[in-house]
Amino acid sequence: MPQLGFGVWQVPDRDARKAVTTALEAGYRSIDTAAAYGNEKGTGKALASSGLPREELFVTTKLWNNDQGYDSALRALDASLRKLRLDYVDLYLIHWPQPARDAYRETWRAFEKIAADGRARAIGVSNFHPAHLDRLIGGSSVVPAVNQIELHPRLPQAGLRRVHAEHGIATEAWSPLGQGKGLLDDPVIARVAARHDRTPAQVVLRWHLQLGNVVIPKSVTPERIRENIDVFGFALTEADMAELAGLDDGTRLGPDPDHFG
Ligand code: NAD
Repeated sequence: MPQLGFGVWQVPDRDARKAVTTALEAGYRSIDTAAAYGNEKGTGKALASSGLPREELFVTTKLWNNDQGYDSALRALDASLRKLRLDYVDLYLIHWPQPARDAYRETWRAFEKIAADGRARAIGVSNFHPAHLDRLIGGSSVVPAVNQIELHPRLPQAGLRRVHAEHGIATEAWSPLGQGKGLLDDPVIARVAARHDRTPAQVVLRWHLQLGNVVIPKSVTPERIRENIDVFGFALTEADMAELAGLDDGTRLGPDPDHFG
């Protein structure tokens, strides 16, 4: 999968077509949406009108919590594919583990069928802690291709990244820019950015790429959409990476997956 993609959480459906079109024109080929975002239709319109061959696109969507379970997951993917105007997605994710409900193993059986039927090229999870991954992998022969988790310089998730490496699971970072506010004003990031004559957002995205993370920054502002993909022409030094490592303070912007949903 492309290491850098475009996220559309909180983009209203009526604006999704324009934002995704701008991203595709800027060179993004990977788009990350979810049933819960309510913008699969607008995203699908942009994909259909882009004129890009299907095989050049990498589309991810996610199963919402209410639809966990075997039959309901199969039906939920039908609905997502219809809205996206696609025959298959490239990656289908279980959005949250909902451990108290304990339905993710049954849901995963539906995901295995979806993959076997070719309706998702790859299947994965999101917001899974190591214990959830262990339980899932223990009951299945199919290891998730991806775990999409909250990850940014204030929450670098070293422990989870190690677990992923052991199992060959790709780490995909959500809220890679720490949702913009706060993180991007940090003086340490500003200092590194000034050294490279780059913006704070570009430095943070570069930090992710050099750690090996897949990133899916979101913006609806055309200049920022273009700025966020223009990160392949420079590299951070080991000293820069070490300085940025100092930003880890465990800040979690989203809910704790153990207690959500
Ligand atoms: P993000 O870290 O990508 O930050 C986005 C915000 O940062 C923008 O709204 C804007 O305010 C600001 N921004 C973006 N580019 C900028 C730039 N160049 N300069 C200055 N400010 C800039 O946050 P996100 O949207 O939460 O996360 C990205 C994507 O991750 C989402 O769109 C979604 O696809 C995915 N996501 C998944 C989950 C999950 O549970 N799996 C949860 C949250 C987000």
